[in-house]
Amino acid sequence: MDHFRFFEGLSFSVAVWGVQMIAYHGFALWFEWLDRAGNGAAFKVRAIERMSYREMLPRVLFNQTFVLLPAMGITQALGLAYYGSTQITIMGFVASVIGLTIGHDIVQYIAHRIVLHEPTNMRKFGHALHHTTRASRAISACYMSAEDFFLEIVCPYLIPLILIGGGGTNFIFHALIVSAGAFGGVYEHSGYDFGLLLRKETGWRWMLGKMLSTEAHGFHHTRGNVSFSDGFGSSNICDTVFKTRWDLVPLRERPTDTTRTV
Ligand SMILES: [Zn+2]
Ligand SMILES: [Zn+2]
Repeated sequence: MDHFRFFEGLSFSVAVWGVQMIAYHGFALWFEWLDRAGNGAAFKVRAIERMSYREMLPRVLFNQTFVLLPAMGITQALGLAYYGSTQITIMGFVASVIGLTIGHDIVQYIAHRIVLHEPTNMRKFGHALHHTTRASRAISACYMSAEDFFLEIVCPYLIPLILIGGGGTNFIFHALIVSAGAFGGVYEHSGYDFGLLLRKETGWRWMLGKMLSTEAHGFHHTRGNVSFSDGFGSSNICDTVFKTRWDLVPLRERPTDTTRTV
């Protein structure tokens, strides 16, 4: 009987995971429709991916189901997150979002730059697989090895969530966090840049264009040595402090992807 109650108690993290799945695949399908219909061609800045949506989907679903879902369940079962009050104040909401944004930036920078891009780890942890893509098909955001997915997607989400106190049990709060995270990853791997035209303007339009930019992660895929946690929705602190932001690093002699056409 007890173990039934244990699984019953995990329904909160499972529901949050469900929202994340709907958001991720909803946004990914929308971008896929844009690709196929050609409706957003004016904003498509990178050459289309060689692998199809259908070819990438099984690995993405595997990572989300067999890595993310158990990690969220274990985190809840250990009482590290998804527990406590359903109430959240406006101040608590704002402070949590700031804490999660900065925490995501720091954990992802460590995992991505120091662990995954360490030359001997590139193949050992399989980050090279994600780098066979060129950030130009939305669903490729989670097309990576299970180890890579754990270090680069799961840890930057769950470690800051645990550190801010677990985020409580306000469903709207958790749903917004995972939906925003899903959109950020999917958008910056879509090959679209909705800030393109705005950056040709000045003032607030240029600022908005910078905020909507997907250049950072696009350049991470094409140059390989820049913008490890800098990207859409990121606080950009680590890449700025350690001077690895794409616009702070001079172009090097050896491009990582010689097939890039855009
Ligand atoms: Zn990388
Ligand atoms: Zn990527």
